[in-house]
Amino acid sequence: MTDRCPTGFDEALLSGFLDGELTQVEAERVRFHLADCAACRSLHEELVHVREASRATPFQPPPDDQWDERPRGPLSLVTRRLGWVMLVAWVAVVAVFAAWQLATAPERLVFKLFVFSCAAGPALLLVSVVVDRLRTLKTDRYRRVLK
Ligand SMILES: [Zn+2]
Repeated sequence: MTDRCPTGFDEALLSGFLDGELTQVEAERVRFHLADCAACRSLHEELVHVREASRATPFQPPPDDQWDERPRGPLSLVTRRLGWVMLVAWVAVVAVFAAWQLATAPERLVFKLFVFSCAAGPALLLVSVVVDRLRTLKTDRYRRVLK
């Protein structure tokens, strides 16, 4: 486990420092603090590793300028958003398909249920796989961070 910073230094500043998002004054503050504080220095090193690992994963997050708010935590926000986009897209596809079936063939209930479960089954399986994969990715990263 990484020791928490004894002075309660803001960890968001460290990731902002890595991304080059800080003002000169803030960056200077981080540099001074890193020189003094072993806990933050090791956290900073871990953030560098996480960032390198994230560059090697197939889940390439889009560049920061495409996001309304920049991801603050170590990639947790990005993976969560990707997961939600996939989940919502699949639920929408299944819902539209079921509604279309309902509208075009309201009399064939058995056929309708059959088609719906055909679409919903794989969709649910995919959603569960995606959710599990995202959770694994996240815990892997956090395990590395918390080491
Ligand atoms: Zn510190």
